[in-house]
Amino acid sequence: ELEEIAASTSECVRVVIRIRPLNEREQNTAPCLEVGDGGRNIVVNDQGNARKFTFDSIFPIDGKQEDVFRNVAKPIIDSCLAGYNGTIFAYGQTGSGKTFTMQGPEESIHAQSGDIRQLRGIMPRVFEYIFDSIQKEKEEKGTAVDYVVKCAYLQVYNETITDLLTPSQHNLNIREDTLKGVYVEDLTEETVKHPEDCYRVLRKGVANRTVSATSMNQESSRSHGVFTVIIERKEEKPDNLVSKRVSRLNLVDLAGSERQKLAKTSGQTLKEASNINRSLSVLGYVIMALVDASNGKERHINYRDSKLTFLLKDSLGGNAKTCMVATVSPSELNLVETISTLKFAQRAK
Ligand code: ADP
Ligand code: MG
Repeated sequence: ELEEIAASTSECVRVVIRIRPLNEREQNTAPCLEVGDGGRNIVVNDQGNARKFTFDSIFPIDGKQEDVFRNVAKPIIDSCLAGYNGTIFAYGQTGSGKTFTMQGPEESIHAQSGDIRQLRGIMPRVFEYIFDSIQKEKEEKGTAVDYVVKCAYLQVYNETITDLLTPSQHNLNIREDTLKGVYVEDLTEETVKHPEDCYRVLRKGVANRTVSATSMNQESSRSHGVFTVIIERKEEKPDNLVSKRVSRLNLVDLAGSERQKLAKTSGQTLKEASNINRSLSVLGYVIMALVDASNGKERHINYRDSKLTFLLKDSLGGNAKTCMVATVSPSELNLVETISTLKFAQRAK
């Protein structure tokens, strides 16, 4: 029996699947997924039932970081360099490869040798690509164009925003302004001039994220990390005209998608327990509504229903480009979570 679940296509939101290799624990378990039809279908063996899902792209077990960058990130950065906002999400259960996809292993970032360097994830490649592109444009146009690039890094945990570059800034507010659009009040923005500066900012934020999770007795897999690159471009035109534009690229490592157990950890209130995955479920609805809207259906989009969707409001929908990379394990051990991820991702189409 073959159940077919096909995705409608949409321009503003793309969803791709990435399958990680079996880990040590899964070595001798049966695979529960198969990739078919030129890499666009996934067939899941769900206790004898074959369920087929279709996506924009599927990165197989041996899929390379370079290919993920080229397929997922490059079109979005190009659009950001042209003045639009963009967002890349990594979605999936804890241990499925979100951080591997977004950052890559720590040692890969500065590795000189080919093999380890190949493991760099989307973020280090994005940083290099942005500065390379700016450099090229400056060589072409000279001093008439000028760029200022900044980075910010925040975390959403239990509907509370923490500035990962100044972690004493806890519980930040989101504001909406007709001129500035939506912004997080008092969020630190660090000016960066080289990819090196971006790695430093990233490393600092990652360290603060770990420290803050430990000291507050939180589980870091339950927080969303939002790294934003802000690109300000100024160009002097003839007749003393100056054109200015600002675009934002958000690189989001989402909280683990696994269903949270209702049993609460000590000290956690019921409100906290129900808030933990609020941003994740609202994100699912918002993306679904955006896809419907781009297919001509009239939909109201409830950005304000969660902190994550509200702060990303100007970077989802409209002219902004979004891609969600949904990461899964190939092993039958994770079958339930894998199906749940594929269903979420399918809805997001
Ligand atoms: P998550 O961030 O979703 O919790 P991680 O990115 O930390 O998961 O991945 C869990 C483990 O699996 C890590 O040791 C990571 O290096 C490894 N891993 C994940 N995806 C891949 C992949 N595509 N290729 C090789 N190793 C991977
Ligand atoms: Mg992770």
